Amino acid sequence: MRGLVVLCRAGFEGEAAAEASEIARARGAEVRTVRADGHALLEPREPSGAAALARLSSLDLIFARQVFAGQECVPLPVGDEAVPALTEAAWRVAQGLGLRGFSSLLVEAPDTDGGRRLWPTCGRLAEGLGAALSEKGLLGPRSPGPRLHVFLPNPSEALLGTSDPGRSSPWPMGIPRLRFPSGAPSRSALKLEEAFLSFVPEGERRVRLRPGMRAADLGASPGGWTWYLASRGLVVAAVDNGPLDRTLLETGLVEHIRADAFTWRPPRAMDWLVCDLVAPPARVAKLVGVWASRGRCREAVFNLKLPSAGRLAQVRRCAEIISRELDRCGARYSLRFKQLYHDREEVTGHLRVEEAGTTPPAAPRDPKLRTPLRSQPAGGAGRRGRSGRGRARHST
Ligand code: SAM
Repeated sequence: MRGLVVLCRAGFEGEAAAEASEIARARGAEVRTVRADGHALLEPREPSGAAALARLSSLDLIFARQVFAGQECVPLPVGDEAVPALTEAAWRVAQGLGLRGFSSLLVEAPDTDGGRRLWPTCGRLAEGLGAALSEKGLLGPRSPGPRLHVFLPNPSEALLGTSDPGRSSPWPMGIPRLRFPSGAPSRSALKLEEAFLSFVPEGERRVRLRPGMRAADLGASPGGWTWYLASRGLVVAAVDNGPLDRTLLETGLVEHIRADAFTWRPPRAMDWLVCDLVAPPARVAKLVGVWASRGRCREAVFNLKLPSAGRLAQVRRCAEIISRELDRCGARYSLRFKQLYHDREEVTGHLRVEEAGTTPPAAPRDPKLRTPLRSQPAGGAGRRGRSGRGRARHST
C-alpha cells in the first residue's frame, strides 16, 4: 500500500479525507480515498502523486489527528510471531526507502470501539518491537530517520509507514495522554491543555503563557479553562452568567464577571483570549476576529461547536470571518484549527497576532459592538509600523 494514512475522530472520516484530498489536489496529486472507521486512506492515482501526498502534514489538516505515508501492509500473526514478522517488515520498509533506521516508533490503532480493543496490543507491540528494532540498530537516536508507524486497522493486519517527526503527532493516534488534574472544576481543563500543547511549541510555552499575563475566558462556567490558566499564574477575567467554582476565586487570580460575553469589553488589552461559548460558530469567529483586530488580545484559543453537516465548510467560513477582520486592519497573524482529541462535535482554533495592524477598524455593523474602543495595540507600540503588515499567514 503506497499512500497517505489519516487517523481521525470516528464520524469525521469524510471531513478528514475531503480536506486531505483537496490539499493533495492543489499540490498536483489526484487521489482515490478509502474511508474506514476512524481513519482514511488516500492513494495517488498516478505514481508521481505519492511525493505530494507524503508531504502532507498533520499540521496542515484540521480533522486529522495523525498522518503518515503508508508503505507496506502485512498480515499480523498472533502471539509471539508478531514481533519477528513486524521486525522483518520494518527492515524491508527501511531498505525500500534507503534508510539506516528509524528515529522513533509508534504503534497505533483506530479510536473506535474495535480499535480501542487493540490498544493494549499496540502497547505490547511498541515495547517488543521497539526492543527488537533497537537490538538490530534499526531504531534509536543514532538512526536520525523518519518515525516508523505500525498501524493496526484490524486484529489481523498491520500497515507500516513513515512520517517526518516534525510533521506528525508525537503521540500514538495523535492522542496526548493527559491526566485529569485534581482541583480542576471540569474536564474541559484537559481540552485547553491539549490546545496549548498542540498550538504553542514546547520551547515557547513558558514565555507565551507565563505568570502575570492577563487572560479573558469568555463562557467560563464552571471554570475548567479558567482553572488551567490560573494554575499557570495568569490573571483571569472569567466571563459567564453561570456559576464559577468558588475555589478559583480564592486564588486571588480570578475575577468572575457576570456579563454577556458578546458585549463585554476588557478594561485593558489581554495577552490571551480563551473562548468556549456554546454559540453559532460564525458568531464566535466574529467575536474573536473583532477582539484580535482591535488589540484586545494578542493570542486566542477558541472552540467552534460544529453543525452535523457541512462541517469543513463551516470551519473555512469561520476562518474567512476572522481573516477579514484582521486583513482589514493590516495585521499579520497566524490562524490554525484542529479537531483535538478532547473535542467532540467541535474544533479548536488558535489565533496569534504577530504584528498589530495600523489601519483603524471600521465601525462595526453589529449595534451591540458599537461602543467606542480605546484598547491598546496588543503587541505594544514597538510592533507597530514594522514592515510586513497586512501579510497574513494562516492555514485552515
Ligand atoms: N470552558 C468552560 C469550562 O472549562 O468549564 C465550559 C464552558 S461551557 C461549554 C459554555 C459556557 O458558555 C456556559 O457556561 C454558558 O453559560 C456560557 N455562555 C453561553 N453564552 C454566553 C454568553 N452570551 N455570555 C456569557 N456566557 C455564555
